[in-house]
Amino acid sequence: MHLVFIGAHPDDEAFASGTIAKYVDRGHKATIVHATRGGRGHWEIPSEDLKEIRTMEMSKAAEILGADVRFLDYEDASVPDGDTLREALVDVIRELKPDIVITFHPLVWRDDHRRVGLAASDASMKASLPLHVTAHPAHRPEPEVYFFGSTMSDAKPDVYVDVSDYMDVKVESFRQHVSQWQRWGEPPERQEGYLEEVVTRYIHRFRQLGREAGVDYAEAFISKTGRKYAHDLLPARR
Ligand SMILES: [Zn+2]
Repeated sequence: MHLVFIGAHPDDEAFASGTIAKYVDRGHKATIVHATRGGRGHWEIPSEDLKEIRTMEMSKAAEILGADVRFLDYEDASVPDGDTLREALVDVIRELKPDIVITFHPLVWRDDHRRVGLAASDASMKASLPLHVTAHPAHRPEPEVYFFGSTMSDAKPDVYVDVSDYMDVKVESFRQHVSQWQRWGEPPERQEGYLEEVVTRYIHRFRQLGREAGVDYAEAFISKTGRKYAHDLLPARR
């Protein structure tokens, strides 16, 4: 089985990194696709330098999870909406041939995230149509799509993945995104201790989700087809 995570920026995969690690540990394949290299999320580091830093952080984070990474190289905060992004993702899906796609819920607040989620969901269906001709042949069957993220709607998670055994790996991967976890606009001497604060909040979030699922730590998803029709998000051990 091949799990393909489709996000907008380096560190977006942190929402699903326990599931990614669990997949890989079970002998399956995982690929993280980000639409941008995150070149605009800092107040001081020039954009080109920031892209290089975040590419490096992302490759370390992915290596810890055992996942491959690729970037679509759109500009951070300027991910295109509509057909451009969707067609790019049709070809990514046809090339990578995922069984499962995890992406943002199409009704999340930030535009880059929302655009990626909607386009990835639409592309998953469109990639399966043989008469829609692109650089790669159609990929069938249509991959199962799972969404994450706090939504504008009252949509609630219907699938939980127990990641209790993967929290060390998940947190270690999260910690690689050093350039993301800084007090915005503050000088270096004011940054001390902030990473630990962020890590504590991060762990707490997945403990809360674990409580909802009746396990120690969990990640939560909304299946595109609804639980009634969705396949098992987690494949058996290989
Ligand atoms: Zn993001």
